[in-house]
Amino acid sequence: MGENEMAASKTFTGNQALRIQEPLIFEVGHNGQTGVDVPEPAAHTSRLGALGRKTPIDLPGLTEPETMRHYVRLSRQNYAIDLGLYPLGSCTMKHNPRLNEKMARLPGFGDIHPLQPLSTVPGALELMKTLSSWLLKMTDMKAVALSPKAGAQGELAGMMAIRAAIAAKGETRGTVLVPESAHGTNPATAAALGYKVEGIKARADGTVSVEAVKEKLGPHVAAIMLTNPNTCGLFEPEAAAIADAIHEAGAYFYGDGANFNAIVGKVKPGSIGVDAMHINLHKTFSTPHGGGGPGSGPVVLSERLAPFAPVPFFRGDELVERVEDAAGGEMPFGRLTAFHGQMGMYVRAMAYMMSHGSDGLKQASEDAVLSANYIKASLADLMSVAFPDRPAMHEVLFDDRFLKDTGITTLDFAKAMIDEGFHPMTMYFPLVVPGAMLIEPTESESLASLDIFIAALRDLAMAAKRGDTERFTEAPRYAPRRRLDETKGARKPVLTYEAPQPVLDAAE
Ligand SMILES: *Cc1c(COP(=O)(O)O)cnc(C)c1O
Repeated sequence: MGENEMAASKTFTGNQALRIQEPLIFEVGHNGQTGVDVPEPAAHTSRLGALGRKTPIDLPGLTEPETMRHYVRLSRQNYAIDLGLYPLGSCTMKHNPRLNEKMARLPGFGDIHPLQPLSTVPGALELMKTLSSWLLKMTDMKAVALSPKAGAQGELAGMMAIRAAIAAKGETRGTVLVPESAHGTNPATAAALGYKVEGIKARADGTVSVEAVKEKLGPHVAAIMLTNPNTCGLFEPEAAAIADAIHEAGAYFYGDGANFNAIVGKVKPGSIGVDAMHINLHKTFSTPHGGGGPGSGPVVLSERLAPFAPVPFFRGDELVERVEDAAGGEMPFGRLTAFHGQMGMYVRAMAYMMSHGSDGLKQASEDAVLSANYIKASLADLMSVAFPDRPAMHEVLFDDRFLKDTGITTLDFAKAMIDEGFHPMTMYFPLVVPGAMLIEPTESESLASLDIFIAALRDLAMAAKRGDTERFTEAPRYAPRRRLDETKGARKPVLTYEAPQPVLDAAE
């Protein structure tokens, strides 16, 4: 029994001080109870006839205060960027300024309906146009499709534009090159579109060489999907040369721009030869995300791919809504999502951009990189930096060599961080580094907050080396739950609640 469970069993209620154990809503609610008083309907004949339900619906009923408490207690079991540092590499969990929320809730943005006539929403269209022009300016690209609702869908949009461009040339190219350090969505996107995925090995320094790409090139290659900065937190120094080689072979360069937050105002992807790139508004330009929450992944396209952008898109100031409205030279591949995408995310991103200004956006990138390098320098003597010789960008990658012979794994180390009040870093990703620990502090952490985080990690690393093994293998000791079987949870999810049989019935 873990310490927290022992503590819990000492109280009459099972609660630990003001942290209250919360059962499932089905266990606390009662059938047929409701928090609102609805008068009995007058005598009537149901129009459902024989289709009417004959058994109770079995939905739990609670009073309004019970409902409120249930969800507030559940929410307190979550960790959030508004509670503490959230160093989840690759995810860019940065502070979302409250100004963004205020703007997104303005009735002219927050209350509009996707089916409203365009003539009634000129303000929203103006904002989308302005956002588009800022994104194009920052990336030096020619067209943007705002509609994709996540980074992964932006990838799909960009790769579909590439596929359409290749088809328009009358070519068939069936292979997409993906470096082995790629985010899982890259090969998944290519495979979902029917492409054969071919991996490219990284060099010992964690980056991709133009020679390794050239070896794989040929008339069968449709595109390369390259993340820059890559998922090891390193800038790909040969990206421009890779772009040249790809173009020479008649293929396209898909740049995964999820890590754009490291280079905004520093590098324009269009100018190093990227043909299509999605931008995670929900990472680079703040916005709350996580837990499958809303995202927005606009995809920017180069001159060569611009004609193939999906509808809706802007032709200058004019919104082109339908494929049939395409003008000469425009060959949109279709519509990707219903309506125009995530309006709330557009407003948040625009508020973030306008409140920072061009100098502020550039500084945000610089500070994100500075924070990651500060962590790298502060931990390099105790933890093992995976690629010590290259400067880190917005995130820093450690591996598990410093835990060698301690009997402690990356997972144990991450769980011990929970006891210290930190969300763990990204673990075991990227796959190219054994026992990977990917830390992304973001620019929104203060120096004081970084220092506490570093001090906690130093203490943990020293404890591991001293042989204080139980602090890790028993962790988390202070969380409401210990180690859950996440694999079983994902593979065999229990999605319906079955009430336990009443004791008397069960005995019969
Ligand atoms: C987050 C991320 C994605 C996917 O973005 P989603 O919005 O989660 O779909 C793709 N590539 C990289 C490198 C990422 O970090």
